[in-house]
Amino acid sequence: MKPRDPYLLTPGPATTAAETKAAMLRDWGSWDGDFKAITARVRARLLEVAEAGDAYTCVPIQGSGTFAVEATLGTLVPRDGKALVLANGAYGKRAAETLARIGRDFEVYTTAEDTPPDPEELDRILAADPAIGHVLLVHCETTSGILNPLEPIARVVADRGRALILDAMSTFGALPIATAALGLAAVIASANKCLEGVPGMGFVIARKADLQAAAGNAHSLSLDLADQWAYMEKSGQWRFTPPTHVVAALGVALDLHAAEGGTPARGGRYAANHRSVVDGLRGLGIEPLIPDALQSPIIVTFRCPDDPAFAFQPFYDRLKAEGFIIYPGKMTAAETFRIGCIGTLTPEIMGEVVAAVGRVLDALGVARRNAA
Ligand SMILES: *Cc1c(COP(=O)(O)O)cnc(C)c1O
Repeated sequence: MKPRDPYLLTPGPATTAAETKAAMLRDWGSWDGDFKAITARVRARLLEVAEAGDAYTCVPIQGSGTFAVEATLGTLVPRDGKALVLANGAYGKRAAETLARIGRDFEVYTTAEDTPPDPEELDRILAADPAIGHVLLVHCETTSGILNPLEPIARVVADRGRALILDAMSTFGALPIATAALGLAAVIASANKCLEGVPGMGFVIARKADLQAAAGNAHSLSLDLADQWAYMEKSGQWRFTPPTHVVAALGVALDLHAAEGGTPARGGRYAANHRSVVDGLRGLGIEPLIPDALQSPIIVTFRCPDDPAFAFQPFYDRLKAEGFIIYPGKMTAAETFRIGCIGTLTPEIMGEVVAAVGRVLDALGVARRNAA
């Protein structure tokens, strides 16, 4: 019997459904009506998932999620504008680095990796600096798995009359995002995380009026969202070669998302996955790093066992041999590893992960676990 492909216990690319993979077994002409129809349907579905009304549009963009973040910042932040980045992990830092590279003025409000930004402090920063026009918040900081407080932050930004750009890369499709009700300026995500599509494209939900006003602002030709949108509206096509197979796979992945029961059901399954793996690993004496109340159901950071017999690479290799691909830690403060709860995983599969971790720790001779 051929062994099954390993499950990806990662924050994306994630394990995808057989139907989603099968959607890629066909070639499409990028200018052909059939492919244009897929693009139009995907854009319309993404707008629905974003709870965005008629004032918004969905602009897909080639590349990984980072390309979509850079396209959004470069298109929406005016050349003489200023942005504030709320950073408590690697993706916040990356957004700040992007602003530096594209030559936009910015400020960073940094909190520790296990600490969400404080809405009151944000209010003080915005009050003190009227030049800040845009604020960037990372919804789930995938570095640690911490869930940042979208609603209170959105309220402060709206009350101060500024624009909020949400990096919802690792939450879109699993946690509700009321784009129109919260007055978000832009929501950025990609195909290959909670939507369970394959990697190769990101997309941005943005106000049509903002994109119109941003024409000519972008620093880059290929990452100009306003141009991509204008061309797509006019022709139904992507500017430049689209990732046709990726778009087709996302179309099927979005059908599966709807069939599962949309965002509430997807988020509910991930929450059950999360409970299963956290309870199970706690039973083995391995503790998550982020307090439960701040933790998203997307990905969990665990402390490595406090035993010299433990090393990440052999732990990883043995788990892979058992059919599970985990993720190294990315936090700077502690020795950690991460387990993603997204993709076509179930609580039963997470139970198998826990059993495999127990076997591997025994095989490595790891006796001491986390200090209580
Ligand atoms: C995955 C992710 C990104 C984009 O990463 P890519 O590797 O470029 O796809 C950006 N922000 C967050 C919060 C993410 O989880």
